[in-house]
Amino acid sequence: MHNCRAGSDAWVLSLGYRPISLFRERTKACAWRTRSLSLSRRVAELQRGTRRSRVANRQSLHWLSSAADLHVHLVGFGLAGAALAFFLCQRARKDQHVTLSVVDVARAGCAGGATQAAAGILHPFTPRARKIWLGDEGLACAKEILRAVVEPEAPPIARRSGLIRLASTEREAADYAAAATDLYSGELFWDRNRDQLFIPDAWVVDAPAYVQAIRRYLERYHAEKIMMWEARQVHSLDDEWRRVQMHLGARGAHESFMVVAAGASSKLLIPTLPLTWCGGHNLVYRRQDWIWPVAELAMTSISADAIPDANMSDIPVIGGGSYLVPLPDRLRLIGGATKEYGLTQAELLEAQSRSSAQQMDRARAALELPLDALFARYANAARWASTRESSGPTPSRLPGPVEALYGIRALPPRNALGAVPLVGEVPQEALSLLTNASISERVRVLYFTGLGSRGLIHHGIIGRLAAEAVLRGDSLVSLASVASPSVLASVRRDAAEAVAAS
Ligand SMILES: Cc1cc2nc3c(=O)[nH]c(=O)nc-3n(C[C@H](O)[C@H](O)[C@H](O)COP(=O)(O)OP(=O)(O)OC[C@H]3O[C@@H](n4cnc5c(N)ncnc54)[C@H](O)[C@@H]3O)c2cc1C
Repeated sequence: MHNCRAGSDAWVLSLGYRPISLFRERTKACAWRTRSLSLSRRVAELQRGTRRSRVANRQSLHWLSSAADLHVHLVGFGLAGAALAFFLCQRARKDQHVTLSVVDVARAGCAGGATQAAAGILHPFTPRARKIWLGDEGLACAKEILRAVVEPEAPPIARRSGLIRLASTEREAADYAAAATDLYSGELFWDRNRDQLFIPDAWVVDAPAYVQAIRRYLERYHAEKIMMWEARQVHSLDDEWRRVQMHLGARGAHESFMVVAAGASSKLLIPTLPLTWCGGHNLVYRRQDWIWPVAELAMTSISADAIPDANMSDIPVIGGGSYLVPLPDRLRLIGGATKEYGLTQAELLEAQSRSSAQQMDRARAALELPLDALFARYANAARWASTRESSGPTPSRLPGPVEALYGIRALPPRNALGAVPLVGEVPQEALSLLTNASISERVRVLYFTGLGSRGLIHHGIIGRLAAEAVLRGDSLVSLASVASPSVLASVRRDAAEAVAAS
């Protein structure tokens, strides 16, 4: 079997490979069951299909007739894995035959880890109102993905909500005032009377629903590229690569990559990654249990088209290290978040094994006081705005939460650019140390993680740059290669053109 030529049908059939587009419903039950089918039986089976499966059949026959130029096996389909997969499929040249396989431990086969716990805030500014490194490009890429994957009939997964930051200290007030007047006038608006900064082009994204929408998009529009999708835990790189070889015959591809995009768990698979762990809770409330203040802004300085929602309703608020975020479905509202810095491996495993009741107790104990204070301040600022009187803070009582979310952020080291995600390649020499030398020299192992607390702003742009490096055939993928000054210049040109076109 190992001697089969790349491009021959024989190795595919002898492994009994069954593409996901044809047999997705049964993937869970039989994903790893190998079967031998004769070509004639297989073709006959394919020809018997319904109309829907006939489309898939064509894709399957296409696969049977050619080996991939490039196969990418993704470990983890959170924000990072989803963005990488999206841009691999989108940016592959017409003559480039790219295939993908995905494994993710989450029950849905995607959107676990920190992604399922995220509040969903997306905008390009730091807490001090400076631009995040690649913040504008990150926002443009996230919008590009959203434009492609949003399904008009489905519940909304994203909303341009705007965002209010309440200054809590003199220094914050000075930073916000300077940013709005000197640095980013037209993008930020400072209201000195209410101590609030308004960011009109801020979004709330339902992160898990968004990742699921990316998966559906890939399955619908790039089905011929998707070889396998499995809900399973990966324990080691060797083990995983053996499985991939055995069951997908990825050695038939001209070039094979395994990409570790497993968030915090990436460090368990590649212990040399310079990540630290930061656990965090969010509380989920029913939106209907809140009387959400209608924000009033210093409207005179804000142009009408900068205002996201004519009613100025459901604008999320951040202040004093906490946030309250109405979700795009208008049914839920998220309050958070806790930050447990410097978790050890034992603490990480303990945290992941807590019951939901335990997570709820911890989240309420840590979050209810600060959220109560934030809401009172926000409501008071709104009331001040409508009555023009500044009395004491509005007393508030938070409703009971319905769920506590918990996730672990994978923090990269900070450098002069801030928190820059980790993207790169494990060199072959290091691979042999990591994997007992059993991993084939023909597979290249990449990682894409370290999205920290800013997965939404960085997943799209870094995922796009990494995908383009893979498609270009960079000999060693590194942050320096994917984000070189010339690459960034062209990305910036693209982003500017997209803004101009919209
Ligand atoms: C409480 C909280 C609130 C946050 N709020 C925001 C926010 O408002 N805005 C923002 O931009 N960011 C926010 N973040 C950060 C954001 O969630 C992360 O940056 C982002 O989700 C990281 O994406 P990822 O794909 O790198 O990792 P993850 O989201 O952790 O995804 C990793 C994927 O790999 C899978 N996986 C893990 N281990 C294995 C394994 N061994 N085998 C197979 N599969 C595996 C997981 O199931 C998961 O689907 C928040 C994070 C937390 C914890």
